[in-house]
Amino acid sequence: MKIGFIGLGNMGAPMAANLAAAGHEVTGFDTAGTTAEGVANADTAEAAVQAADVVITMLPNGQILRKVADTVIPAMKQGAVLLDCSTVDVDSARAVAEQANAAGLGALDAPVSGGIGGAQGGTLTFMVGGDDGAFETAKPLFDIMGQKAVHCGPSGNGQAAKICNNMILGATMIVTCEAFALADKLGLDRQAMFDVVSTSSGYSWSMNAYCPAPGIGPKSPSDNEYKPGFAAELMLKDLTLAMQAAESADADTPIGQAARELYRRFVEDEDGNGRDFSAMLPRFENRGHQ
Ligand code: NAD
Repeated sequence: MKIGFIGLGNMGAPMAANLAAAGHEVTGFDTAGTTAEGVANADTAEAAVQAADVVITMLPNGQILRKVADTVIPAMKQGAVLLDCSTVDVDSARAVAEQANAAGLGALDAPVSGGIGGAQGGTLTFMVGGDDGAFETAKPLFDIMGQKAVHCGPSGNGQAAKICNNMILGATMIVTCEAFALADKLGLDRQAMFDVVSTSSGYSWSMNAYCPAPGIGPKSPSDNEYKPGFAAELMLKDLTLAMQAAESADADTPIGQAARELYRRFVEDEDGNGRDFSAMLPRFENRGHQ
């Protein structure tokens, strides 16, 4: 397949390289001039997409996606598919899909989980919104870049699934950290708490697979001085998208709101230090910094 790839950053570059390594003809474009292994470089976004059967975008946010869509949609060939893998707001995802459909293109929103490691290893999970035909076209590409693609319904539903998942993740991480700080004060050993909770009804991915307490459970960023991993800034971005969506859909999300506020203060205090989102635990250990 001929693939145009717009946005060769931390995630996009390894995803594009994996597609090229699997034998696809990939042409990339990034405003920062970044490149990826095996990927031909175009001078403009239009040049990267004009011959493509599928155009993949991996961009920072919905505003940039909308701008890029205005440029690439008129340059794409009829019947091609625009596949956005960025994490963006549901409204932008739906607007871009509508614009693509109106121009005779297929469109999918397919945000990912799995982070940079998943992008490099080709083990991402894709949460996909859009019609069946476009999903079938993109399926072989999902199989190269990832290990699982779930078709969640019409356009925007991939983004909806992503922000709902990450709202749960943010909230469970916070309460797991709170519980460790409380256990410390009650004189309960952290290992004992892990052994109980990880096999009891309080278990979660945050506790079992990504334990925020150093030296407990499987290896995680807490064992590496909280270097990300999944940076607190990215969690704040996803929680902010979740709260925007909740407001526009008139949904009641009080715990999501509280989680967003805690991560907002975390990122503000970090001042660009970029620690992992599980570093909420040292913040609870030191009550003065909440
Ligand atoms: P990044 O900042 O490393 O990459 C984004 C790239 O887009 C940059 O190289 C930038 O130069 C390029 N870009 C910006 N505007 C452009 C334009 N108009 N035309 C062409 N290129 C342009 O970000 P990333 O970590 O690769 O993340 C990309 C997306 O994936 C984000 O939406 C993010 O939320 C999501 N995501 C990231 C992770 C992660 O762990 N990094 C995990 C899951 C999802």
